[in-house]
Amino acid sequence: MARNQFSTRPLGDFQVTTISDGFALAPAATLVRATDRLNLANQWRMARQIHKPLMRADVLMFVVSSRNEKILIDAGAGHALGPTMGKAQQNLRRAGVQATDITKVLISHPHPDHLCGISDRGAMLYPNAYIYLDRRDYEYWSAPEHTYSQFGRALAPYIAVDRLRLFEPGDELAAGVSAVPLPGHTIGHSGFQVQSGAAKALFWGDIIHDYDYQLANPDHTFVLRDFHAVRVADEIAMQQKILAEVAASHELVFAPHAPFPGAGHVVVSSSGTYGWKISS
Ligand SMILES: [Zn+2]
Repeated sequence: MARNQFSTRPLGDFQVTTISDGFALAPAATLVRATDRLNLANQWRMARQIHKPLMRADVLMFVVSSRNEKILIDAGAGHALGPTMGKAQQNLRRAGVQATDITKVLISHPHPDHLCGISDRGAMLYPNAYIYLDRRDYEYWSAPEHTYSQFGRALAPYIAVDRLRLFEPGDELAAGVSAVPLPGHTIGHSGFQVQSGAAKALFWGDIIHDYDYQLANPDHTFVLRDFHAVRVADEIAMQQKILAEVAASHELVFAPHAPFPGAGHVVVSSSGTYGWKISS
């Protein structure tokens, strides 16, 4: 049986529970610089540099509980991406969280490994929740030239009962929880700042995918499908800006693709790049 399915810690007056949805595998050649291309030359270069053909990333989500409500940050893949994911519902139950108690689901960006776990075959998995999505991401991914079939399918049952809420950068989404614009990975990619008294943390979504390679090589990002040089450059610029900020502030970071339990600090390494110090 798999280990590390859930883990809980306090954050001021909040409790944060990490729930595992499973893990994702991707070819290591998808780690690229803005000047690279997704091609054979890059595959060979990456194979030499990182000595592994595949990168493996946890797929996690976070339940932020206050006295008044339970908020889910990201929702895992559901059944959209195959059998290594889709474990969130059983792990929520193991952690003692009722899906019916979730009042809000905040989505960092609507890629399938963050969004599709909100529904199962057209039915809401969080029937009492509102789904929160950045307005720019919603509009972009709703356009026929950008959308994918599971995007509409995941959201449809919530839209049918008026439970989709579109937020703007900086909006407060709950007491102590606000949206932080981190565009790059997607046009509306968002983090969530959670603060309670002196305790605070940044839930930074997909700023980083491979916590070994990319922190040591912050000029690389992860591109799974189409390579757009401008978008890749934007993403790398945002990732470098945020890495520098949280390395300086020592802020606690929660991340859906960081090694379980998905919490840690960015530290400056002896070589002048970065490292990830797991906070357990
Ligand atoms: Zn992701």
